[in-house]
Amino acid sequence: MPGRRLPTWMSSESENDPKMSEAEMKPMEFCGKIVLVANENEASLICEELLQECRAQAPFTHSDWSPFVVGFDAEWDVNNYSRNPKSAVVDLVQVCCSEQTVYLFHLARMNSFPVELKRLIENPQIVKTGVNVRGDIYRLQRQFNLSNKGSDVIDLGELANKVLKCNQTWSLDRLCVHVLNRQLPKTESIRCSQWSEFNLSSDQIKYAALDAYVSWKLYCDLANYSKT
Ligand code: ZN
Repeated sequence: MPGRRLPTWMSSESENDPKMSEAEMKPMEFCGKIVLVANENEASLICEELLQECRAQAPFTHSDWSPFVVGFDAEWDVNNYSRNPKSAVVDLVQVCCSEQTVYLFHLARMNSFPVELKRLIENPQIVKTGVNVRGDIYRLQRQFNLSNKGSDVIDLGELANKVLKCNQTWSLDRLCVHVLNRQLPKTESIRCSQWSEFNLSSDQIKYAALDAYVSWKLYCDLANYSKT
């Protein structure tokens, strides 16, 4: 909207402000419950509940900012990818739709893709948000024959550019610093770790949950701001 002033922390020129430096910022953390799901029946039960919750909210989904939004992310073995791009498969899908819970669906341990997770991804009423989330969805579509038209996918970089009225290429950690005023502890070694491993380490679990939570949180902040 013309003439509206952004709070300084959201302004794209805020680099010039004497604001908190990145080093002074607290690290972002997720304090809710992390549910690691390693079998397809349990995954389907959880997704069925999420779908029901979405249906219960359906009368309110006609605004510009659909209220049923999930932070969405996926992980795979990056090193495997560089050896043979075609063989890289998604090992983990992360979903967050509240302050309370993040679900980690460990596909690497499942024999087939959970039916209800497929429905959740394909359901246009459930908005999937994240940085480069289209790439994650595309990869899943190719691997598991899902159909997603893309209308229910919101890239956080694009949303940030719209709300902040700028034109930048955003990473999740830059958005976290700029919008939430928090550092995102990015550990390259964890990002590039083996997500196909039968037992994920506690660092992998924490990292994966945080990515989905931060995506959800960023969406809420950006969408809320645009409503005020
Ligand atoms: Zn991630």
